[in-house]
Amino acid sequence: MNLLNLKKISKAYTSNIGEFKILDNVNLSLQNKENIFLFGPSGCGKSTLLNILAGLDYPDDGEMYFQNQIIKKKSLELLQKELGIIFQDHYLISELNIFDNIKLKCNSHEEINVILKYFELLDLKNKFPNQLSNGQKQRVCVARALVSQPKILIADEPTSYLDRENADLVINLILMASKKFDISTVVASHDMSFQSKFDKSYTIDNKNLILC
Ligand code: ADP
Ligand code: MG
Repeated sequence: MNLLNLKKISKAYTSNIGEFKILDNVNLSLQNKENIFLFGPSGCGKSTLLNILAGLDYPDDGEMYFQNQIIKKKSLELLQKELGIIFQDHYLISELNIFDNIKLKCNSHEEINVILKYFELLDLKNKFPNQLSNGQKQRVCVARALVSQPKILIADEPTSYLDRENADLVINLILMASKKFDISTVVASHDMSFQSKFDKSYTIDNKNLILC
């Protein structure tokens, strides 16, 4: 089933030296349970595309559909409700323990405990972010992104600050959770070793999205 569709999306940024186009006529369709990998050099437009997919930014031109329903600028919250997002940085709140950090996204203690158990984080739930390793923090972020049972998980360079072992662990967790909870994923990374784990991979070259 067609979950998310971008049709002829364009996006430019304006600065003091003029308008600078990042995406030009980009089409993308994300199917139910599909895992998409997005790679390319720094500055090619990966975050710009992910922010549009995540409803954090809006394209200048083109249309976006969620489950075949058009998403207007005013209805971006509809899209955001169906999404979980992970970034390069963990963005956990240092004053809150792990349980309360996840509680910001979900009020059900039962659901929080289920997700903590699934990601083997129960032992850490009373700890604070600065007591966790980078790998543990990013696992908490995956759990937090998924606790509200989104249909789509968007991850922007989620492994950049991790060592090899933890990077693999986080990507494997994301893909395992995708199967277990029927979630589609779009993961951006410049670590090409992940490419073969995904159903499809794309890069952005000269403002165009290219299937690889
Ligand atoms: P990537 O994630 O692939 O590194 P980005 O999507 O972050 O690339 O950025 C693509 C280009 O757009 C870069 O040249 C960046 O400097 C520029 N850019 C990104 N966000 C903004 C913004 N808010 N305002 C102006 N330029 C931006
Ligand atoms: Mg980026």
